[in-house]
Amino acid sequence: MKIKQWVLQGLRVGVVTTGYPARKEQAAGVSPGIPSAMSKVPEEEARRLVEICPTGAIEAEKGGVRVDLRRCVHCFRCARGKGESVAWDFGYEWARFAEGVKQPVWPSGFMKSLHIRVVDAGDCGACLSEVRQLNNPYYNMHRLGFFVTPTPRNADILLVVGPVTEQMRRPLLATYEAMPTPKLVMAVGACALSGGVFSPSVFSGPGVGSILPVDIEVPGAPPPPLAILHGLLVAAGRKSPAPRTGVPKEGIRPS
Ligand code: SF4
Repeated sequence: MKIKQWVLQGLRVGVVTTGYPARKEQAAGVSPGIPSAMSKVPEEEARRLVEICPTGAIEAEKGGVRVDLRRCVHCFRCARGKGESVAWDFGYEWARFAEGVKQPVWPSGFMKSLHIRVVDAGDCGACLSEVRQLNNPYYNMHRLGFFVTPTPRNADILLVVGPVTEQMRRPLLATYEAMPTPKLVMAVGACALSGGVFSPSVFSGPGVGSILPVDIEVPGAPPPPLAILHGLLVAAGRKSPAPRTGVPKEGIRPS
């Protein structure tokens, strides 16, 4: 296609970039959803759900089940098939502060823009692929002042995907140590949060938190780009984090 045709095509299609965070994104397919942290289900169903979860993310408790989103690998077994489903959260604002972490205090003069050093610490490719989407024209994180930097010396935030394999342990620590302060660590995806299906094993540990102080957690396997974008906005103090504990919900089944 010639340049003139590209220009005409652009004028015809108009702006396709998401309106998030100014507007809620409602386009189909931007998020697979995630189990709600708590669901109301009968006792017998709760026992069944605990049994079918392959990662031990579901725990039965009085009146329902609690889901540890750090361990959930998005397999949908608790949402499909026979029996009652856990409640499903259809949004994407899932990022939250790690346990005990409060809103970071950035120095005065901080313009709420972030430089991000991304480290693949043994990721299967899924989370990294979603991180990569943030630079495409649809998500276009540059419009929000977020930039990936190749050097830790310029980074404000360390974004880690993967369970941290033994081979990546030292490079990850070296990257963190090379970053100036203040700095934040954002763990993205179930593997980075808990080791996921790969850990614990001789090859990898139980996630980034066993090596570095994690500030922001983005659950999902993989989390969609908007969930990661939400994490960056939380890090910059421009969006509120998701609560760590949910309110019990009735089961809503994803289609
Ligand atoms: S979707 Fe998550 S919580 Fe549900 S069964 Fe799969 S891993 Fe467990």
